[in-house]
Amino acid sequence: MATSKAATRKKIRAQALRTARSLSLLPSYDVVVLGGGAAGLAAAITAAEAGASTLIIEKDYECGRTILATGNGRCNFTNLYLEAKHFNNPSFVEATLGHTPLEDILSFFRASGLMWTQKEGRLYPRSLSAASVRSVLLKRAQRAGVVMACCREAQSVNYDAKNDTYQVDVRENFAEDEHVTYTTLSARKLIVASGGGSNELLDSFKMPRIATRPGLCALSCESSLLNKLDGKRSQANLSLFKGMFPHMVEHGEVLFRSYGLSGIAVFNLSRIAEPGDKIEIDLVPEYSEGEIGQRLFELGMDNATYDGILDPELAQVVLDMARSCHEQNIAHFIKHLPLVVTGLADTAHAQVTRGGFDCASFCATTLEALEQPGLYCIGEALDIDGECGGFNLSWAWKSGMVAGACAASTCA
Ligand SMILES: Cc1cc2nc3c(=O)[nH]c(=O)nc-3n(C[C@H](O)[C@H](O)[C@H](O)COP(=O)(O)OP(=O)(O)OC[C@H]3O[C@@H](n4cnc5c(N)ncnc54)[C@H](O)[C@@H]3O)c2cc1C
Repeated sequence: MATSKAATRKKIRAQALRTARSLSLLPSYDVVVLGGGAAGLAAAITAAEAGASTLIIEKDYECGRTILATGNGRCNFTNLYLEAKHFNNPSFVEATLGHTPLEDILSFFRASGLMWTQKEGRLYPRSLSAASVRSVLLKRAQRAGVVMACCREAQSVNYDAKNDTYQVDVRENFAEDEHVTYTTLSARKLIVASGGGSNELLDSFKMPRIATRPGLCALSCESSLLNKLDGKRSQANLSLFKGMFPHMVEHGEVLFRSYGLSGIAVFNLSRIAEPGDKIEIDLVPEYSEGEIGQRLFELGMDNATYDGILDPELAQVVLDMARSCHEQNIAHFIKHLPLVVTGLADTAHAQVTRGGFDCASFCATTLEALEQPGLYCIGEALDIDGECGGFNLSWAWKSGMVAGACAASTCA
């Protein structure tokens, strides 16, 4: 089964490489989009449907592959409570999102043929398959006439002032054993949608960048007892303390790992947690400390057990932790289980890259560079990141739609 899946993937890749190699490109396009991920596809579709000749340059062998891993393969593509407050730079995001961001995103996907379902405000494709989201976008891009030039990596960008165009140097590589070739393409408008991570594409413009770092990932914490909990899950409230006071409170499933904590609630805390911060875990958020104490009191000293309240293994480790802290009031302890953050963990699986091109260099309502007309930056390439729950993809779609529409309108 695994072999046949691998064989199918190999076949798809080989076909994609052949398609990429056989594609002949024009020397110039109205709109060139660097990166065919979530934001790039939304931008290219919007620009092409508005009448601009549009090219995507994508370094992977197909566009939209980053979408496939989202939401554990189910793609949590937006959120019913889409508001700017869920992002790092709310005033900038608010101006980009406009008045009806959710309706705009849903209209976009309705027009792409996607049906959806929701759980606790998080929207997923009805099929619960991220492949559905990617597929409807690729098909819509094709219908709109977007040229998707894959296996091509943008290397650098320069501005040709004489012709008022952008020149993109592109490295073409259609197979591991093949010679790499280089070409230069010209764009009237350029949209940078190359995602997070290091990004030297705009170095010639000296565009300021905020240092990048992983976000939405697990946290490592101090405690030798965590080893015994590896893999255990519990619904909990988590409060992050910076000094004396709780700085942020999250509710959700916490996954204990040998090195610390994981799970969606923890991912959200990871956006601001720093070494030395304290996390208090309330393992029984639906009951007060008094109610838990009362239940145990009613059972009597000899029968008091936490196994009916918590997973038995979790209960045992919590008791051991309480003992090692000389904490007598166990009801209090399970409502305030303390852990000290030592850093980010498992960053290879971080869901978002924080940092990127500084928003201060861009117009929030068009995403066009203030000092470089005709150059746009969208998605994770900009210094915008949001909480878990469909917010990051929402930003990708909406920022793409905004820049795509502006770029195309100024080409007309
Ligand atoms: C495991 C995982 C799960 C996630 N789940 C969710 C979720 O459920 N909901 C949610 O809202 N968010 C989720 N996210 C975050 C979300 O996927 C990103 O915020 C979003 O994909 C960013 O879109 P983007 O287009 O800016 O960047 P990307 O989607 O990363 O796309 C960038 C594209 O540019 C291409 N590229 C890069 N450099 C070049 C270059 N020089 N030349 C040509 N092409 C280039 C890349 O190959 C890529 O295709 C998840 C992220 C991860 C990693």
